[in-house]
Amino acid sequence: MPDISKILSHFYGFESFRGIQKEIIERTTQRKGHSLVLMPTGSGKSLCYQIPALYFEGGTIVVSPLIALMQDQVDKMKQKKIPADFINSTLSREERDIRLKKFVNGEIKLLYVTPERFRKQEFTRTVKNADISLFAVDEAHCISEWGHDFRPDYSRLGEFRELIGNPLTIALTATATPDVQHDIIAKLNLKNEETKLFHQGIDRPNLRLEAADVIDEKEKSDSILEVINNYKGSGIIYFSLIQTLEKFSEILQKNNIKHLIYHGKLADKDRKRNQRIFINNPDQIVLATNAFGMGIDKPDIRFVIHAELPSSVEAYYQEIGRAGRDGNASLCRLLYNPQDIYIQMDFIKWSNPDADFYHALFDILKRDLQIVNAYGSEYLREKMNFKTRSDFRVETALNMLDRYGATEGSPETKNLELISPLPEPLEDVERLKEKLLNDNKKLLSMVNYFKEEDCRRVYISGYFGFTDEKRCNNCDKCDEIQNSEKM
Ligand code: ADP
Ligand code: MG
Repeated sequence: MPDISKILSHFYGFESFRGIQKEIIERTTQRKGHSLVLMPTGSGKSLCYQIPALYFEGGTIVVSPLIALMQDQVDKMKQKKIPADFINSTLSREERDIRLKKFVNGEIKLLYVTPERFRKQEFTRTVKNADISLFAVDEAHCISEWGHDFRPDYSRLGEFRELIGNPLTIALTATATPDVQHDIIAKLNLKNEETKLFHQGIDRPNLRLEAADVIDEKEKSDSILEVINNYKGSGIIYFSLIQTLEKFSEILQKNNIKHLIYHGKLADKDRKRNQRIFINNPDQIVLATNAFGMGIDKPDIRFVIHAELPSSVEAYYQEIGRAGRDGNASLCRLLYNPQDIYIQMDFIKWSNPDADFYHALFDILKRDLQIVNAYGSEYLREKMNFKTRSDFRVETALNMLDRYGATEGSPETKNLELISPLPEPLEDVERLKEKLLNDNKKLLSMVNYFKEEDCRRVYISGYFGFTDEKRCNNCDKCDEIQNSEKM
């Protein structure tokens, strides 16, 4: 039997395990049962399944939600001579077949796939023949509708797990509320008594948490300028609206503060360029919407400011988690203006089309698909009779249809195709209502974060079901508590 510490030093060149890694890895390699792992971003979740994968005789299937992420991970492993590869839609059919065969005959030990892969018979028929020791589900919060990045194909992973013989399973995520944790276990068909929860809390003690009341634009910009002037190094300033982002970009320009911008309306090449500059250079400030962040692994981000209220504690925690990856002191300041709640309430509305909307849109797609592909989603917006420019229900609906596999392609690339009828969950009035209610609750939890009187870190930890957090002495509320005790 190989020794897990030897695997660690041989392939990764690391001396020792971090935090609860060893405990998790041993539970898995000793086949004691399934695990649900909650560890902050950057704390080393990948090793928790990669080491067992290298330890076991058989292969490991790793489910990962995004093609870009998996490519990146596999590249890094190949550099370490780890026999890993991925299969996804970017490859030719021949290449997919070759890789799948290699996995079945044991040449590839870690096979990364997106959950959509399990829709394809060519894949499921063959993969069943592999000797599979471990099933690893990365970004497992995507399983749950109550999570912040629901992917319907993820919610079917239980079926696929059964198809490959219900192997030993490890699910990993940085963010899952107790509801989401339950959902992950249930949807993977894991038995509660066979599954152990490893919860490392939210950690990141080097992040200083602050929230400030701002009544207008002036106070907002003053607060931002104060941070920029006092915290040297790179920072991200998040906005909900592109419009506000642009306004603040002008304010910074007037103050001679060099900065980058990043949002969904920039041309693809400009976005990529700005992201590259931000990552590769010191002392960069970027004004961004939440489109910015995936794959941002810059160690020395010294501050993350939220100029507008984010949609949920999950989103907030994920965004501030990009600060201080190097372990040095970093500031996370939330600027709270009650007015900004309305922006999020609109977003919630646009992110939750009702059943009638889905029906109407789907009817147009059935009838006028060619026209839609010729004129793009603008045609749909017109047909759906939109009064508000910012209403993005069409985008939401198209995205959901794609996630449910009811469509492929997109009107923007002129290749939208209907694959199946309108998925049942998208016409389920009760379910859609519940989802809307849940989104509103999440927003409320963010307001409550601002209003919290006790330690902010304890609040966030509690939100994620971690009850052992102690006051952090590194937030504005802990300062207040200490000051009042001194008096
Ligand atoms: P996560 O998936 O939790 O966000 P990763 O698995 O990507 O985090 O790991 C983050 C970084 O930490 C990687 O660069 C990885 O090489 C490093 N790392 C993980 N475990 C260890 C360890 N035991 N010793 C040193 N570095 C580690
Ligand atoms: Mg990870």
